[in-house]
Amino acid sequence: MENILEVRDLHISFHTYAGEVKAVRGVNFEVKKGETVGIVGESGCGKSVTAQSIMKLLPQPPTQYKQGSILFSGQDLLKKSEKEMQKIRGNDIGMIFQDPMTSLNPTMKTGRQITESLIKHQGMSAGEAHKQAIELLKMVGIPQPDKRANQYPHEFSGGMRQRAMIAIALACRPKLLIADEPTTALDVTIQAQILELMKELQEKTGTSIIIITHDLGVVADMCDRVVVMYAGEVAETGTVDQIFYQPQHPYTKGLLKSVPRLDMKRNEPLAPIIGTPPDLLHPPAGCPFFARCEYAMEVCRNHKPVLEEMGGNHQAACWLHHPLASNRKEEFAQ
Ligand code: SF4
Ligand code: MG
Repeated sequence: MENILEVRDLHISFHTYAGEVKAVRGVNFEVKKGETVGIVGESGCGKSVTAQSIMKLLPQPPTQYKQGSILFSGQDLLKKSEKEMQKIRGNDIGMIFQDPMTSLNPTMKTGRQITESLIKHQGMSAGEAHKQAIELLKMVGIPQPDKRANQYPHEFSGGMRQRAMIAIALACRPKLLIADEPTTALDVTIQAQILELMKELQEKTGTSIIIITHDLGVVADMCDRVVVMYAGEVAETGTVDQIFYQPQHPYTKGLLKSVPRLDMKRNEPLAPIIGTPPDLLHPPAGCPFFARCEYAMEVCRNHKPVLEEMGGNHQAACWLHHPLASNRKEEFAQ
């Protein structure tokens, strides 16, 4: 299937008083039409930065796009001006955030926030846009949409606000929807409803989705493919089944062991990954996971592993897959 998005060799740094923080270092991944891709990893791994870079929402300076490209429908977003990006944001690419209040305008009625975007991007008349806004609020499951359209965001509950934000993000039928921790702030029932809603809307509109999350349950439920990030790099990528049932990177394996699973034996302890990610002011020369990895070998200290094909488009960046590491690899497989 055709790629809607291709991120190639992306490097992003933040310039701080302490020096250059190399937040994203050579990230590659793609999203196909109609597909849902999850980007997972601990906080600070660069997943949100990567997502926001697609919308070019990171202020420059201090952000610097050092290298690489972000091809959206074949066009490099990194070469677009702010004015061109304004046309793309909300129109071709929609974004929903963890906290709806960061993207909803508290001083504007909810309905109007949708109609504005329809008038601006789709050239609708005020009347058409109003009708469409009500339709959208209804579609995301907001009861009494004509009454609700006239209310301000603070008059909505948390779950309703999240729905309103999705309605706004979807108003112009974006080809790509980026959801950064979309349900983290919500209780479990509402979380399930919002995810279900996103799935339904995807079926209706065929939009591609990127979900940024630290929640592997959300990934298992929603995604076709997964990108596991660690310390600003891609550690592993594959289908949900490949990642959950045949993880090839010790970090992925660690992530999976650190969350509760249905097949767990009673009293089986969770195993958190000990230690902290490296300081990206001074990224390590070798494997970024070296200091925390129970399979680390001498080669990992100073030599950076690159993403290697494991079969079936499943890729991992780890020296365990080198023929000379076969004995450690057997240990890992157990
Ligand atoms: Fe561990 Fe070495 Fe693989 Fe890095 S390259 S994850 S340190 S085994
Ligand atoms: Mg984040």
